[in-house]
Amino acid sequence: MSRPFELDPLFRRLTTLPGVGEKNAALFERLLGGQKVLDLLWHFPIDVIDRRFSPNINEAPNGRVATMEVRVIKHFPNARRSQPYRVKCSDNTGELNLTFFRANKGWIEKLLPEGERRVVSGKVEYYQGNPQIVHPDVVSPEERESLQTVEPIYPLTAGITNKVVRKAAIGALGFIPKLPEWLDPSYKKQQQWIEWDEALDAVHNPQSVGALDPEHPIRQRLAYDELLANQLTLGLVRQRQKKLGGRSFECPGLLREKMIEALPFSLTGAQERALSDIDTDMVAKARMLRLVQGDVGSGKTVVAALAMLRAVECGAQAAMMAPTEILARQHAESLKPLLEACGVRSIILTGRDKGKAREVLLQQIANGAAQIIIGTHAIFQDDVIYEDLGLAVIDEQHRFGVEQRLSLSSKGKGTDVLVMTATPIPRTLTLTAYGDMDVSRLDEKPPGRKPVETLLLPSEKLESMVDGLQRKISEGARVYWVCPLVEESEFSDMAAAEERYDVLKQFFGDQVGLVHGRMKAEEKDAVMAQFASGALKVLVATTVIEVGVNVPEATIMVIEHAERFGLSQLHQLRGRVGRGSDQSYCFLLYSGPLGETAKERLSVMRATEDGFIIAEKDLELRGSGDILGVKQSGALNFKIANIEVHGELLATARDDVKLILDRDPELSSERGLALKTLLYLFERDQAIQYLRSG
Ligand code: ADP
Ligand code: MG
Repeated sequence: MSRPFELDPLFRRLTTLPGVGEKNAALFERLLGGQKVLDLLWHFPIDVIDRRFSPNINEAPNGRVATMEVRVIKHFPNARRSQPYRVKCSDNTGELNLTFFRANKGWIEKLLPEGERRVVSGKVEYYQGNPQIVHPDVVSPEERESLQTVEPIYPLTAGITNKVVRKAAIGALGFIPKLPEWLDPSYKKQQQWIEWDEALDAVHNPQSVGALDPEHPIRQRLAYDELLANQLTLGLVRQRQKKLGGRSFECPGLLREKMIEALPFSLTGAQERALSDIDTDMVAKARMLRLVQGDVGSGKTVVAALAMLRAVECGAQAAMMAPTEILARQHAESLKPLLEACGVRSIILTGRDKGKAREVLLQQIANGAAQIIIGTHAIFQDDVIYEDLGLAVIDEQHRFGVEQRLSLSSKGKGTDVLVMTATPIPRTLTLTAYGDMDVSRLDEKPPGRKPVETLLLPSEKLESMVDGLQRKISEGARVYWVCPLVEESEFSDMAAAEERYDVLKQFFGDQVGLVHGRMKAEEKDAVMAQFASGALKVLVATTVIEVGVNVPEATIMVIEHAERFGLSQLHQLRGRVGRGSDQSYCFLLYSGPLGETAKERLSVMRATEDGFIIAEKDLELRGSGDILGVKQSGALNFKIANIEVHGELLATARDDVKLILDRDPELSSERGLALKTLLYLFERDQAIQYLRSG
C-alpha cells in the first residue's frame, strides 16, 4: 500500500494556497518547518482576538478589543513625520481617537471620510484620559459581519503577518479530506471526541481562549492521533524486530562465572535483577530490545560486560558502542583484564584506526578472532563485517533514533540489542523515546558510597577554595575542574579552559592537565590516562568528561559558572566523583547575583543526588524543551502533543496499540487500514514498510 490518494491534497505544496507564492514560500517554510499544506494545518493558533464585543464608546474598557460603529468627525494630520496622525470619531456616548503612525494621508482620508459612519475594531487604550485605538481595522457598516469575528492568532515569523497566515489557513481547511476513523469507537465515544476532519477545522476556528487549552477535547483528540501514530510506529518496529526472530543464547554461563570471580566486588541486587531480565531475553528465541537505565555510578558497564559474555560463550560476537573515543578506550581498558581472565579476546576500534591497522582489526572482526568489539560509531560502519554478531550494546546513548537502532542490529542475524543509559528519563519520556524497548532499572548503587557533599560558592571565593584544594591534593585527592560553557562554541570553551589551566598551573605546577574537545584523540587519551594513574592530580576540562568517565580516585569536582549548566548536566558531571569509598565534594561556582530560578536550580543540586528527582525538577523549572538531550533523538518532536499535559493519553495510546497489534498484527482489518492511513498522515511511511517486509 502506498499513500492513500485521499491524503494527496494535504501533501501538496503550500503555494497552492491563497496568499502563498514563490516569494514568501521560504518564509512559510521557516515558520512551519515544511512546505506542505499539512504543515500549515498542524500550525495551531496560540491566541484568539474576540472582536464580537461591541460596547458603546463610554463603556469600552481599557485594554480590551472592541468593535464599535462610529461617525468620523475630524482629521488631525501630523505636522511632523514623527508625530501620529489622529482621527476623531464619536457615537452618542463619547469620543474615540483613532491613531496612526507613519501612515499615508491620502489612504487615511479614503479609509475614514469625514462625516461618514464606519465600524472600527481594535484594542481600546486610554491616552490622557481619552479612549483611543492605534491602527484600528476599519470597514463600512455593511461589512460589519466580516470584521466582527473571533480571529485566531498564529505563531508568526518576521515577514509573515497573521492576516497572511490566516488566509492561507482558511484555504488549507478546504483541503481537509474525510478519512476513515482510526480511533477505537468506544474510546472515542467515552471521550466525546468529534471526527478528525471536524476537529482539525475546529482547532483553526477557536471561539474562545478556552479552545486553545491543550486539554480541550478537540486538541486532545488531535494530540491522541499523534501519540497513537507514535506508539503504533514503535509497536510495529518492535513487532518486526521480534518477528525477524532472534536466537537463543542458551549456555551454562561459565565465562560469566569466571568474570564474576575476578571482580573485586559482588553485584548489587539491582545488577542481578537487570542481568536476569537480560538472560531471559537472550535465552528466548525473540530478539532482545532492552534498555538498562541506571543513574551515574550505578554500575552499568559490568552488566553490559556480563551480558556480552553470554553471547560469546554461545559462540557469537558482542559489540559495545560508546559515544566518545575517551569512553570507548576506558571501557576497553577496564574490561580487558577481566575479559582476559576468562580467556576472551577483545579489540577496540574507533575512528582513529586507519589504513593497515584498521584492515587488521576488520579482519579480526570478520573472521571471529575478535570476540568482543568495543568502540565508537566506527564499529557499525558499512564496511565492518562481523562473523556473527549476537549482541550489540549501546552505552550512554539517548541520542539514538529508532531507525539507527535498527541499522545496528542488522549487522547480524537476529542480533540482540541492549541500550545503557544514565539518563534518568521520567517515565512518560521513556515511553515515547524508548516505547519499543523493555526497561530494566538499576535503582540501587554499589554499597559503601558516601554521598557527595555539594557546596555553592560565589566565584570570588575561588582563591580560597584553591588553597583548600592544595591541602586535599597533598593528601592524595584528585580533582576534576570543569570550565564553563561559553556561547555554545567549542572554540571559546577551549579558550576558557586554557586560561584556567594557565592559572592553575601557577598553583599546582605540572600536576595539572587539560582536555578539551579540540584536542586530538591520542592527546586526550594520554591526558586522561595520566589522570587515571595519578600522575596528574587536577584535570581541567570542558564538558568532554561529561559522559561516563570513571576514575574512582577522583573525589573533587569543581564546576565553574554552574549556573550556565542544565541540572541534568550538573548531575552527570557530579556523578564523576563519589565513586570510591572516600568522601567526595562538588563545588558549584557561580558568578554574579543569581535569579530566583537559578538559585532554586542550584539548591536542588545541593539537596539531592537522586537523578530522578533532579530530572523531574529540571522538567518543572525549564518546562519541557531539551531535557537531557532526548529531544535530539527526534522522539519528542511532537507537532501537537505535549507529553507534560498529555501523559495519560500517551499511556492509553500505548495500551491501545498493544491490543491492536495483538488482534490485527498486519493491520488488515477495517480499523487496521484506517490506522495505516494515520501512519501516512504522520509521515511514518517507514513503519509501514516494516509491515510489508514482515
Ligand atoms: P555507570 O553506571 O555510571 O556506567 P560504571 O559502570 O562506570 O557506572 O561503574 C562505576 C564504578 O562502580 C566503577 O568503578 C565500577 O567498577 C564500580 N562498580 C560497579 N558495580 C559495582 C558493585 N556491585 N560494587 C561495587 N562497585 C561497583
Ligand atoms: Mg557508564
